[in-house]
Amino acid sequence: MEVLSPYKEATDVILEAGGEPLKLCYQCGTCTAVCPWNLVRSFPVRRIIHEAQLGATDFGSEDVWACATCGACVQRCPRGVEIIDIMRAMRRAVVSLGIGIVSDALRISAKNIAGVGNPLGEEPEKRADWAKELGVKRFTPGTEILYFPCCVPAYDPDAKRISQATATVLSKLGIDFGILGSEEKCCGEAIRKAGHEDTFQSLAQSNIAAFNDNDVKTVVVSSPHCYHAFKNEYPELGGKFQVLHITQYLASLIDQGKLNFSKEIKKKVIYSDPCYLGRHNGIYDEPRKVLQSIPGLELMEFPDSNEDALCCGGGGGRIWMDTPKGERFSDIRVEQAIEKGAEIIALACPYCFLNYRDSVLSMDKTEAIEVKDIAELVAEAMTGL
Ligand code: SF4
Ligand code: SF4
Repeated sequence: MEVLSPYKEATDVILEAGGEPLKLCYQCGTCTAVCPWNLVRSFPVRRIIHEAQLGATDFGSEDVWACATCGACVQRCPRGVEIIDIMRAMRRAVVSLGIGIVSDALRISAKNIAGVGNPLGEEPEKRADWAKELGVKRFTPGTEILYFPCCVPAYDPDAKRISQATATVLSKLGIDFGILGSEEKCCGEAIRKAGHEDTFQSLAQSNIAAFNDNDVKTVVVSSPHCYHAFKNEYPELGGKFQVLHITQYLASLIDQGKLNFSKEIKKKVIYSDPCYLGRHNGIYDEPRKVLQSIPGLELMEFPDSNEDALCCGGGGGRIWMDTPKGERFSDIRVEQAIEKGAEIIALACPYCFLNYRDSVLSMDKTEAIEVKDIAELVAEAMTGL
């Protein structure tokens, strides 16, 4: 259990919770200027950091929860300040000291993750139900690849399209893969950014034990958030295995001549870089390579892409919070995509999938544009599904 003291000055509490990088900030304001919140409302990043330096943080402010951990500011900060660590530290202080306000939606998701291992509050025994009709085997020692779908494609009725398309592609290619079903839990990446460090540690230990018990050597994931946790956070807790995002794996199969397409997709497709695949982990080329390999597909780019891509708004636990209309970054992206003449927005992240899907629905644009994960497009081009 975390032991933060409420009797210390706010600055000490934040430093103790991992906000050490705030000492490096020299108040240039670049972070405020590049933050995507500028597009919809004010979010004074520089001032928030300054208040943390002065011990004047308002833990009850909504600003504590605004950061989507997109990394745009960290990428540009001239002092290399890990701004996300500061935001996470403020949230840890709120969560562990019981000060400030946590939205109901986030509180419920956090309780579900801690209780049953997924944010939707679904039964762990049903975690493999998405794969029932597909004949996907349970992972056992010796199986080549563990496919880890993420909670969203495992349970969300719509997002199951992602896990089912992925399993269809892997099966069609004859890949020796399996799933752990009820043995796996949420990776914990987002709940850690939302300040629940204890929950993250417990999830990570549970997943690492499940992977080790089953002698997992290589994990293929659909979510960049799982990728980030497994690749960058689990190793220091004893998780030692190779991690590949599905787009990396598919691109390598294309390079080896093992993935070929039999159907054309004659569509204009625009790709949206997920923050945790692009900025956080430098994976920009592989998703594009996969899309460009599909016959007939015309790949388009957003006005800002690659390192400058606009966040969908779902990182840092914000996927579980209610973002009012007029403040949703994914709405802006949908407008941009339609303006460019795209017919499909291609995604490589289940959180992006949820946000873009909701944007298209709430903006009443289902006739104008479709939202698809890259795995769905690959399955379509392989099988005509
Ligand atoms: S960009 Fe970096 S140095 Fe400048 S105000 Fe933001 S955190 Fe501080
Ligand atoms: S990580 Fe993104 S959302 Fe958070 S403060 Fe930086 S630019 Fe803004």
